[in-house]
Amino acid sequence: MDFEHLYINGEWVPGSSGEWISVEDPAAMEIFARVPRGTPADVDRAARAAHEALPAWAALPLSERIALMEKFLTIFRSQEEDIIELEIRELGAPWSFAKSSHCEYQYTRVRSYIDLAPQVPLVEKMPLSTVYREPVGVIGCITPWNYPLGQVVQKVIPALLMGNTVVLKPSQHTPLSCFLMAEAFEKAGFPKGVFNMVTGRGGEVGDAMASHPLIDMISFTGSTSGGIRVAQRALASVKRISLELGGKSPALVLPMENYDWAIRNCFNSIFLNSGQTCTALSRLLIPKSDQAKIEEALVRIAAEYPVGDPHDHAVRVGPVASAAQYKKIRGFIEQGIAGGARVLLGGVPDEPDHGYYVKPTIFTDVTPDMAIAQAEIFGPVLCVFTYDTPEEAIRLANDTEYGLNAAVYGPKEEAIAAARRIQAGNVYINDSPRDTAAPFGGYKHSGIGREGGVYGMLEFTQQKALFDTCKA
Ligand code: NAD
Repeated sequence: MDFEHLYINGEWVPGSSGEWISVEDPAAMEIFARVPRGTPADVDRAARAAHEALPAWAALPLSERIALMEKFLTIFRSQEEDIIELEIRELGAPWSFAKSSHCEYQYTRVRSYIDLAPQVPLVEKMPLSTVYREPVGVIGCITPWNYPLGQVVQKVIPALLMGNTVVLKPSQHTPLSCFLMAEAFEKAGFPKGVFNMVTGRGGEVGDAMASHPLIDMISFTGSTSGGIRVAQRALASVKRISLELGGKSPALVLPMENYDWAIRNCFNSIFLNSGQTCTALSRLLIPKSDQAKIEEALVRIAAEYPVGDPHDHAVRVGPVASAAQYKKIRGFIEQGIAGGARVLLGGVPDEPDHGYYVKPTIFTDVTPDMAIAQAEIFGPVLCVFTYDTPEEAIRLANDTEYGLNAAVYGPKEEAIAAARRIQAGNVYINDSPRDTAAPFGGYKHSGIGREGGVYGMLEFTQQKALFDTCKA
C-alpha cells in the first residue's frame, strides 16, 4: 500500500510540504514507512472539499448513507489481514490482540452504529413545536496512536451516518491503518469530499484544523493536556468540541473468598495493548485484611501474560509503542521506587536493544500522595492500594483528577451500590462485557461528551426547533 499521499476530495494527492514523517516498528526498532508531513495548506484543501460535499451528503436520506456504510463495512472486513500486520508493525500490538481488538471489535462497533442509526430521534414532537436533529457540518477528527483505528471508528462512522463530512488527522505515530480505512471509503463509493484524511503533526495539522473557519466541530481523543490546547483554539471560532481524554481508572475488589477471576479481569485491562489503553484499570484497590493472599495471586497470575515478539500468536504483551513511551514509562517506574512503593513484580526495564519492551510491573503499598498514584503512566504498570473500610475504598477510587472508567468486583448488589458512588463514565460490574450501544466518555478531566451508540451519534447533530402549530 502507498502511504505517501493524502486523501482529499476523493483523490490521493501529494502533501504540499514535500516532507515526511517516519513510522517506526517498535519491536524491530526500525523505520519501515513514511507519511506526508501535512501542512495548514493541506488542511485548507481538505476542509474546503468537506465543506463543498456537505449539502448533498446531508440531504441524502439516512437509508442511503447506511447502504454506503454497509458496503464500507464489507470492504473493511476484507482488509483484516493487512490491518493486523499494520497494527503489529506500527503499534507493536500482539497478533491475537490486533485481531480481536483492532479488527473484530471495530467491525462490531461499525455494525452497532449502522443498526442503531435508524433509532436516533431525528424528529421529535414537542407540545408546541417539532425538534429536528441536523448535522453539525464539517467535523475535524483528531485521534491518538494507541488504538489507531478504534478511536477513528468512534468518530468517523457516527459523524458520517448523521450526515456530516469529515477531515481526519490520525496520530503521526500510527497513521498507517487509516490509509486502509480511506481506501475502503473510496472503494465503497462515498462521494468525493465526504471523507478526507491529512496526516501530520498535532502542532501543525491539528492546530490548523482547530482554527479553520470551515470546520464546525473538533472531535478530539488524546491526552488531557492536548485536549485542553485544542479546545482552547477551537473555542476561539466557537466550534463544537468533544473531548475523549486520559484516565487513571480504579478496579475496586470487595472482600471475597477467591480473587483469581477478578485479578484476571483487571490484568486483561492493564496489561493488554501494553497498558496503553485510556480505560486501563491501572489502580487496584484491595481489602487490607487479604493483602498477602491477593499479592500471591497477582504474581502467580501475571505469568499468564507472556511478553515478546508481537508476531508470535502466543504472546499477550508486545513492546510499548515508541522510544518516547518506553522512556516515559521507565521514568515512572523509577519514580515509583524512589517514592517508596514496593515492587511486587517487574521493575525498571532493561535497555531496549531489540524492541521497546516493558515487563508487566506491579507496585504495592501505593498511597495517593505518590506520583505513580495520580499520573496516567500509560504502560503495563499496576498500582495496588489497600483499604480498611468501604468508605475508604470509595474515597481512594475517587481520589483522581480523571473519571473515565472503573470496575467493581464482589457480590452483585454490593458492587452496584459501590459503582453508583464512583465518579466515572463507565463502571464494569464483575465480568460483565462491554455494551457497544452504551455511551462512552469521561467525568472530570477525562473529557466532554460521549461516543458510542445513539448517544455517540447525537453528539454529531444539532437541534433546530420549529414552532409549527399555526393553522396554515
Ligand atoms: P496526544 O494528546 O499527544 O495526541 C492525540 C492527537 O492530538 C494526535 O493526533 C496529536 O497529533 C494531536 N495533537 C497533539 N497536540 C495537539 C495540538 N496542540 N493541537 C492539535 N492536535 C494536537 O495523545 P496521544 O499520546 O496520541 O494518546 C494518548 C492519550 O490519549 C492518553 O492520555 C489516553 O488516555 C488518551 N486516550 C483517550 C481515549 C478516550 O476515549 N478517552 C482513547 C484513547 C486514548
